[in-house]
Amino acid sequence: MSSSRGVEASLDQTLLAAAMEVRKHAHAPYSRYPTGVALLADDGKVYVGCNVENASYGLGNCAEASAIAAMLAGGGRRVRRVYVAAPGAAPVTPCGGCRQRLREFADADLVVVAHGIDGAPLITTLEELLPHAFGGEFLG
Ligand code: ZN
Repeated sequence: MSSSRGVEASLDQTLLAAAMEVRKHAHAPYSRYPTGVALLADDGKVYVGCNVENASYGLGNCAEASAIAAMLAGGGRRVRRVYVAAPGAAPVTPCGGCRQRLREFADADLVVVAHGIDGAPLITTLEELLPHAFGGEFLG
């Protein structure tokens, strides 16, 4: 194992632990599907978010949206790596809307690690999750 891989593995453990921890703060009384996201931002900090549901379902926020908001509020501007942790064995990837949200603040090669907390992770990229994405560059 190279030293860079060691640093990356340590980072992964930090992000996974943060994503798992923030799930405890989710407000998910309707879905009972507490989800946590941890992202590494361009300022070197880790930001987290959880899903925040509402009795008026359409007003709920996904964990990714919460984490992006925390990043912006905390001074980060770009997402460098993201972890998603949610119940079950299957890897839980960001929903379609959150793939677009991530696209606003990340490059196509963003590494997305999706965890079902009881199973093996899926390690993928934003490009694989959202090919031929629409972005601000189309708006001139
Ligand atoms: Zn979402």
